[in-house]
Amino acid sequence: MDDLITLRPAGLYCAAGDFYIDPWRPVHRAVLTHAHADHARAGHAHVLATAVSEGVLRSRLGAGLNLQGLAYGEPVLHQGVRISLHPAGHVLGSAQVRVEHGGQVWVASGDYFLSAHDERNPTCPPFEPVRCHCFITESTFGLPIYRWRPQADVFADIDAWWRGNAAAGRPSLLMAYSFGKAQRLLAGVDAGIGPIVVHGAVQPLNAAYRAVGVALPPTQLLTELPDGPARAQALRGALVVAPPAVHASAWARKLGDFSDGFASGWMQLRGARRRQGVDRGFVLSDHADWPGLQRAIAATGAERVIVTHGQEAVMVRWLREQGLDAASFRTEFGGEGGELPAPAAPADAPPVADPA
Ligand SMILES: [Zn+2]
Ligand SMILES: [Zn+2]
Repeated sequence: MDDLITLRPAGLYCAAGDFYIDPWRPVHRAVLTHAHADHARAGHAHVLATAVSEGVLRSRLGAGLNLQGLAYGEPVLHQGVRISLHPAGHVLGSAQVRVEHGGQVWVASGDYFLSAHDERNPTCPPFEPVRCHCFITESTFGLPIYRWRPQADVFADIDAWWRGNAAAGRPSLLMAYSFGKAQRLLAGVDAGIGPIVVHGAVQPLNAAYRAVGVALPPTQLLTELPDGPARAQALRGALVVAPPAVHASAWARKLGDFSDGFASGWMQLRGARRRQGVDRGFVLSDHADWPGLQRAIAATGAERVIVTHGQEAVMVRWLREQGLDAASFRTEFGGEGGELPAPAAPADAPPVADPA
């Protein structure tokens, strides 16, 4: 039997239904898992995605986008192929794509969040395991060194840092990718500590989350603060959430004397905080860690697994050791903002071993 999804120069391709999933070149029909730039590119003639991601997709790919929006779990039949989208727990509207044809079920995960702890990203529905014959999984953090602490512990660290800075009368500049990570931070911090200011790249995305009913604390733009000494006064106890691009910029200098921090899964790598040149690194990711990836793969019941997104060789080897039919696809996913570009080979990573 032919594979339901194969790798083509433009991306992951389903020949039976003549469509692509998250293609990196413009195509006639694309199913998009979520609105991060490495998965949702412009120029497709027809797009299928979750209805809840419509606002962000239109703001990124243009208002003229030809989009069909689906509810989670709602099936569509296209050329005899049954397509449905299922929660991935990654960002607003993120989905896994379930494709069924000729008795075969394949699931392409897109990006997803799951860890060893029973917790979820509070800004979107949790990862839903979908039974399938073949699971195409991401592996952004597919090395045994990546094991997320409980989110509550990470947020306690962030709150303590913010509280300490506020007590010292200086703003806390927290850098994070503007779509997804920024809103997860806003939803998780203790908004009672002080005012929250966000960069202009973050505020429209906050609005998109609020528009579909995700509760976020009040946020204001720097330009909405009063000018002069009154601004410094207002900023003194503030948390400022901004994309990593503001690091060492004129925008950041407007904050005066501040402490800065960076929230990303890559902060787990030794030396990452120092290389970024920030005061604090907070290990918080919207991607699955090593135990989360294994948990997700096991829950699908798939006998065949195809790994994407980097760190593929390690994950493929581990899966084969578990007796699964594993391979990788060389995709153009990954490197999406917020998560720094994946380090080529972390020199300080311990040798790979069975994590059990
Ligand atoms: Zn993503
Ligand atoms: Zn991705």
